[in-house]
Amino acid sequence: MQAKGGETVTEFSFLKSAGEMGQLILSANWSSSTLGSINTWPQSLRTTLSILLNSKFPMFLFWGEEHICFYNDAYRPSLGNNGKHPGAIGQKGKECWPEIWPFIQPIIDNVMAGGEAAWYEDQLLPIYRNGNMEDVYWTFSYSAVIAESGKPAGVFVACNETTDKVIILKDISESRDALGFAINAANLGTWDINPLTNKIFINDRLKNWFGLTQDAGVELQAAINVIDEQDRERVTEAISKALQFSSGGNYNIEHKIINIQTKQERIVCAIGKALFDENQQPYRFNGILMDITEETISRNALIERENNFRNLVEQAPVAICVLKEPDYVVTIANDRMLELWGKTATDVMNKPLFMGLPEARKQGQEELLLNVYTTGERFVASELPITLPRNGKLVLTYLNFVYEAFKDNNGKIEGIMVVATDVTEQVMARLNIEDAEERGRLATDAVNLGTYEYSLISEELITSPRGLAIFGFDGYAPRPQMLAAIHPDDRLIQLKAHKDLPQTGEIFYEVRVFWPDKSMHWVRVQGKVFFDANKEPSRLLGTILDITSQRKAEDELIKTNQRLEIALEVGQLGSYELDLVTNTVYASEQFKVNFGLEEIDQLTFDIVINVITPYYREKVTKAISEAIKNNAVYNMEYQIQWPDKSLRWIKSSAKVGYNEHLKAKVFIGVTVDITEYKQLQQQKDDFLGIASHELKTPVTTIKAYSHLLQEILLQKGDIKEASLVTKMGTQVNRLTNLIADLLDVTKINAGKLQLNNTRFEFNTLVKDIVEDIQNTVPKINIQEDFNQTGVVYVDKERIVQVITNLITNAIKYSPGTNKIIVHTSVKNKEIILSVQDFGVGIPASHQAKVFEKFYRVSGDMQHTFPGLGLGLYISSEIIKRVGGRIWVNSVEGAGATFCFALPVLDDGTEKL
Ligand code: ADP
Repeated sequence: MQAKGGETVTEFSFLKSAGEMGQLILSANWSSSTLGSINTWPQSLRTTLSILLNSKFPMFLFWGEEHICFYNDAYRPSLGNNGKHPGAIGQKGKECWPEIWPFIQPIIDNVMAGGEAAWYEDQLLPIYRNGNMEDVYWTFSYSAVIAESGKPAGVFVACNETTDKVIILKDISESRDALGFAINAANLGTWDINPLTNKIFINDRLKNWFGLTQDAGVELQAAINVIDEQDRERVTEAISKALQFSSGGNYNIEHKIINIQTKQERIVCAIGKALFDENQQPYRFNGILMDITEETISRNALIERENNFRNLVEQAPVAICVLKEPDYVVTIANDRMLELWGKTATDVMNKPLFMGLPEARKQGQEELLLNVYTTGERFVASELPITLPRNGKLVLTYLNFVYEAFKDNNGKIEGIMVVATDVTEQVMARLNIEDAEERGRLATDAVNLGTYEYSLISEELITSPRGLAIFGFDGYAPRPQMLAAIHPDDRLIQLKAHKDLPQTGEIFYEVRVFWPDKSMHWVRVQGKVFFDANKEPSRLLGTILDITSQRKAEDELIKTNQRLEIALEVGQLGSYELDLVTNTVYASEQFKVNFGLEEIDQLTFDIVINVITPYYREKVTKAISEAIKNNAVYNMEYQIQWPDKSLRWIKSSAKVGYNEHLKAKVFIGVTVDITEYKQLQQQKDDFLGIASHELKTPVTTIKAYSHLLQEILLQKGDIKEASLVTKMGTQVNRLTNLIADLLDVTKINAGKLQLNNTRFEFNTLVKDIVEDIQNTVPKINIQEDFNQTGVVYVDKERIVQVITNLITNAIKYSPGTNKIIVHTSVKNKEIILSVQDFGVGIPASHQAKVFEKFYRVSGDMQHTFPGLGLGLYISSEIIKRVGGRIWVNSVEGAGATFCFALPVLDDGTEKL
């Protein structure tokens, strides 16, 4: 667009600094328009445009008959994009605003006709902009622009688009409606206090609640007067507090109001907020009031119910507690429950159950509670054993209890109520009774006791099967039948026992009964009278015991004792019992007679031991100790001296009796006076001594003559006769040996065995003996198994006698075998010699005895082996005399090994 008509651009100064619109007007081609070029424009238009274009307020101008349109930069945004701008400049009003023309034309026309200026506020005038028809709100005024002619030439529009404001207001209004609706629906009262004037504005509902009618704001005090007297001070304080800036302006309180007219009471909850100005002064304080009468009533009722429940629980005669989720927190527990748990309130209250009562954990309670909690099913326990703390110790208790789930209003399980009673005492008492019954039953069974109950009133008898069996009956038998089973001789015993019953209150008798098979049995009946409530004797309760075997045993014992007594008497055996604890001796009369102690009533060990001669006293004490120590049989022969100084011989045998702890308790034995036997023995020994001594000389002479005779016969050549004399010589040798043995025994008995000790090399001696014997028995192989032995200092001849005896015995008792081994060795400073054979051997029970005088092992072959049984006795006496030991090892049928040990003088090892 270009300025035309000879005018320079500078001439249109009213357009030049008039923004974008000014430029647009300048550049437009006005010549073709009814307005004509700018330079033809009247001053009024120019002035108006100058005002319009330079204003920052949105403005529009309709000019002339055609309502040519002008607008300024401030107006421009209201036309949007892709709409009327920029074409609207210079456009005819009707063409520019066809959509609103019907609305604005009358206004324009009215103004143009000299009418009053028009004013519209927030007028909706939908226009085309941004490619659409849009709802646009305007606040505008239409006023006339008076031309030079004095008539209106155009309409000046000062306008403002208020679309945004209208929309906001609309939104506000809608939300206010919504709020009002909500307030209404929620039954809320609203209030608004002006702290500056102390006036309060309340909605209708509040007026209704308060009983106030004024429409305008009421005095705050009037509203406060509505508050129940009891709450008034509290509420005024809360209000003053909320009005202090430091409080943050918050207000939240529950109180009661009373309608001043109807006196209707309401409990309300007031919530509000105070607003403060920059000086921290409150300028507004508003909020709501909620009628919470019903809730409060029901809440109070609930609290009361809960309190009642607590009281109930507290006073209940059983232990009650309430456990709530999570973790079964103990919310209520009465003293009984605390007692049952063994806890204090501080220990458990408001804590998870198993935290306060850890002892109950791991006793299955958690699982039970969980089950009740998840399923809602009640759990009832009867006499459940649980260990609980009692005075610092865990004690087994028995509880009856119920776990019951309780639910909230929605049926959701809230927790568990526990009702429990401690039944430990009852259970214990019952268990004790059961135990006692069981023990009684066991005891009755164990001793095979029968039981009975006899009614003293109806005379009815009830007998247990065992009791009947003792009387010989398979099943039930009436009383008369049972009584008939009693041995006729014993019936009086039974009758007497019953007769005495009223006096004694007890019954006891032992009678014989005959069983149907005619066998006889001993029965013991015992019983006790029981009284009824009137203290009258009513029943007899008791037991029946079969005492047949006991009686038999007693009879047997009596018989045995009688037999024993007879035996003791006949054998003039004294018997005694030494109490090893008290040292008292309980002795029979015969014992006292044997010891010459008939005068003394109560014997003691010391009294008895002092009767024994000093030589034997120590030996006897030692032998008794040994027997006790080794649980061995005690056997002793010793001399005693009677009070009249005469010497007597006693043989005593005894055994130790032990108590249940295996401690020696008694020493029981018998004694016999063997003085006469000893005298006879002595006489025999004397005779043997004399006889053998007297025989020795003639036999030696016979031996010498027979030897001489043999020489003579051999010289004469009478070989046959000479061999007869040889045989005679052999027998004479045997006779010599027998006489020598007898003499030795006599010497030993008299303690007159002489020993002539010399030093000699042991093995050399043994070797010589073996060789000598080997020469006489060429068929037997006597093997030598010699080890280094050394020198001994003993009677050489006597040792030769011992070794010879052992080797000849070995040969004698080994028929059918041909081997004998002679061993020598040294061990622990002792020379040991053993002679081993593989013959008949000796039974174990005889092995110790073969060293006794005249002892010979009896057996099938007794007569096969000639002998007196003196060789080993003499040998053992010799060995003992030289300080050695002699013994035998043997297995019957497999041979015997006889050994002796001698102290070695010099084992020769030093020489090696
Ligand atoms: P005797 O041989 O004269 O009978 P001893 O005193 O020598 O007397 O022996 C006693 C008993 O010991 C014998 O009667 C015999 O029964 C037994 N006896 C001794 N030595 C042996 C042996 N080597 N083997 C088996 N029995 C034996």
